[in-house]
Amino acid sequence: MSLQLDDVTKRYGDTPVFAHVSLEAAQGEFVAIIGESGVGKSTLLNCMAALDTWDSGRIVHDGIDLGTLGDEQRALWRRRAVGFVFQAFHVLPHLDVAQNVALPLMLLGQEEPARVQAMLAAVGLEGLGARLPQQLSGGQLQRVAIARALIHRPALLLADEPTGNLDPTTASRVMDVLVEQTRSHGATLVLVTHSEAAAARADRVLRLAADGIRG
Ligand code: ADP
Ligand code: MG
Repeated sequence: MSLQLDDVTKRYGDTPVFAHVSLEAAQGEFVAIIGESGVGKSTLLNCMAALDTWDSGRIVHDGIDLGTLGDEQRALWRRRAVGFVFQAFHVLPHLDVAQNVALPLMLLGQEEPARVQAMLAAVGLEGLGARLPQQLSGGQLQRVAIARALIHRPALLLADEPTGNLDPTTASRVMDVLVEQTRSHGATLVLVTHSEAAAARADRVLRLAADGIRG
């Protein structure tokens, strides 16, 4: 089992966000999480990436209990094992497309221009490596973000409303890339979405509510 959450609870001060969240996602599996705005989907995804802390329960990835890791160990684990795609792309404006995609490899001390070129081709950005982000469309920017999230072949891919800022046709193309790449790498994909079309692509759809998560 690749990702396992066991009775996870999150509060901000005295305000509960969610409780009793338990789920398992296997390697190669694509799980979509839906739920009302403000119910804690982004917070939950950030906890899965160990970017946020939780108050009780366990989050385990490939046998690593994330709650037992210190800050530096979490950062190293994330660098190696996690790819994260945000709704707002978060592409670095002063780096060109190829440099943005190569960033996770650089952080791991690897330099593999051929892999970067192959990844750009895989997401339909062949020949655009030297462009700056400002010269790309929204759909292209999101494909840069997906390429960057996948370049180091992470076992866990987390995506927070990655098609939220895109028109339906572009969103569908971006979902194609995300699913294809996840399947071919055998990664676990957890996708938070408002989009029924995006959720329909998943192996399983879970709905997050204040008192737990269910299929
Ligand atoms: P979703 O992604 O489902 O829309 P979020 O995870 O963004 O929900 O937020 C869940 C709840 O937690 C919201 O009520 C939000 O206001 C609250 N929240 C998020 N971040 C913080 C924070 N840093 N401090 C206090 N409350 C927060
Ligand atoms: Mg959110």
